[in-house]
Amino acid sequence: MKGLRRWEVWLVAGVVAACVALGVWLYLPRAAQGGAVALISVDGQERYLVALAEDGPSWSFSIQQETGKPVCFEVGPQGIRFSQVDCPDHLCEQMGWCLSPGNRAVCLPNRTFLAVYDRQELPNTEEARWITPQQPPV
Ligand SMILES: [Zn+2]
Repeated sequence: MKGLRRWEVWLVAGVVAACVALGVWLYLPRAAQGGAVALISVDGQERYLVALAEDGPSWSFSIQQETGKPVCFEVGPQGIRFSQVDCPDHLCEQMGWCLSPGNRAVCLPNRTFLAVYDRQELPNTEEARWITPQQPPV
């Protein structure tokens, strides 16, 4: 009887340890993630990657020189948004800030798409390049 109880205690302890280990294993990759990333596509081609952070710098850039699209983006602690876009409807600017994975905005007249991903779930994009305040589009 005493032996069985000890066996039960060890079983419970083992299950608890396994749950803790699983919890840690599930938690760690999340804690290590690099945050949100905006992917900008133009004419169906993935062009730019922008790291987003709630404590990140505020800056803006234009993609007109490189893509011919009269589109600017504003980046800041609130995320990223279309700004100063030359399009008939300006719906893209009204879509506002995108910060969380899954947030999207689009300027259909300029065929420019903006989508935010978790850095770990970023699609494999060899075409797109990272841009920063130090290295904006030319
Ligand atoms: Zn627009």
